Amino acid sequence: MSSGSRVALLRQLPSVDELLNRPRLTALTREAGHGLVVEAARGVLDELRADIAQRGEAAAIDAATLEARIAGEIARLLQPSLRPVINATGVILHTNLGRAPLAPAAVEHLRATVTQYSNLEYDVAAGQRGKRDAHTARLLARVLGAEAAIVVNNNAAAVCLVLNTLAIGGEVIVSRGELIEIGDGFRIPDIMSESGAALREVGTTNRTALADYERAIGERSRLLLRVHPSNFRIVGFTNRVGLEELVELGRRSRLPVFEDLGSGCLADLSPYGFDEPLASASLRAGASLVSFSGDKLLGGPQAGIIAGKRELVERCRRNPMFRALRVDKLTIAVLEATLLACLRGAFDEIPALRMIRLSADEVGRRAEALVAKLRSALPAGEVELEIIDGQSVIGGGSTPEQSLPTRLIAISSLHYSAAQLEERLRTLPLASQSAPDRGASTEPPTSPPVIARIEEGRLLLDLRTVLPEQESQIAAALVSALR
Ligand SMILES: *Cc1c(COP(=O)(O)O)cnc(C)c1O
Repeated sequence: MSSGSRVALLRQLPSVDELLNRPRLTALTREAGHGLVVEAARGVLDELRADIAQRGEAAAIDAATLEARIAGEIARLLQPSLRPVINATGVILHTNLGRAPLAPAAVEHLRATVTQYSNLEYDVAAGQRGKRDAHTARLLARVLGAEAAIVVNNNAAAVCLVLNTLAIGGEVIVSRGELIEIGDGFRIPDIMSESGAALREVGTTNRTALADYERAIGERSRLLLRVHPSNFRIVGFTNRVGLEELVELGRRSRLPVFEDLGSGCLADLSPYGFDEPLASASLRAGASLVSFSGDKLLGGPQAGIIAGKRELVERCRRNPMFRALRVDKLTIAVLEATLLACLRGAFDEIPALRMIRLSADEVGRRAEALVAKLRSALPAGEVELEIIDGQSVIGGGSTPEQSLPTRLIAISSLHYSAAQLEERLRTLPLASQSAPDRGASTEPPTSPPVIARIEEGRLLLDLRTVLPEQESQIAAALVSALR
């Protein structure tokens, strides 16, 4: 193409001002700000100029098309990145999907306390400065049967703080069978070296005896550490020293015993087939300190809880590192409300715990209702829907080899493979959401992406992890994905 026609094409491009005067973009400057619209218009025009310069041609360049394109870009830009998804995987504490969904009452307490000023660090009765720990310390002590408790950002921070406080410059004795990696870079040996404590490994990967700990105790010993193996199990020829024995050894050798519980179970899950140790049981058995996550089996916000002997908790609290690891008012509000539900024994108010406690029959009944709805909405003969037995898991590094019996919806379609269906459920809402004709609307899309799994060529949905109020959304998503 000649340079003459390039020049002609470039001349046809509307100006930024011309575009800004189009009704939709004028409206957008009021909603999204003049600067943002000008920038998007310039960006689109620059791309077209580059296309014309390189290839001598460009896609449609009339003002109406460009107006829609610019509006689409702004809509995409203004869409929040963090958004709801529907978890139909049956993994309750799904690390990639935000671990524990929060209790509505906890979020209500959050809204009520953080959209205005609060007594976060103010003692209203005394009219003077208070401590932010006060809001959760009393509750934690009560539900855990602990002398004292503090809260930091997450359990990794809690472990770091305890090791740094109690063992800096000295040795921490831990079994080789417990030198675990949780995922995303949390490795016990690394945390140890960051905290300034030296690791003293005892025993072997599969077997550690009390005598192994005993032999390792020396002048530099500061702490006996026990770590919940979380996401793995050693089976076969094994031995792990019980907490009581370790506590007894600690007493004899005047060393505190710290147990990193990982999930930190407050509700007894044994009726549901899980032998997760209760945090309160560890303290009753004599652990000097325990730590666990707020967003695993407690079902609350991301947090790390340290509880146990008052003198040791106080030492952790006075460590300057505590200030750097402290939680904000958002966490405190949600944690306080979650702990209040625990105190009342209202575990069904905590979504993650309610999901664990759902029976396979209850999940099955919901699956049947959804399947009936889908059958009436979809053309007969094109989709096969079946309800089958399956397993849900707790996830989040808890109880790796245990699972919960559940009922799954198995879907196969004449038109789409399982992989295609899985992708459609995940991405269709995103595609419709970024369609240019949604304008710059910042309203949430009607249906969140649905995350499902595939087994033996079939798409499987587990409603255990789907909130009841998401059922109409999942039905709508399935109808549009299967069409
Ligand atoms: C999950 C886990 C951690 C890390 O907890 P976060 O709250 O994710 O920081 C530490 N130790 C154990 C044993 C765990 O299971």
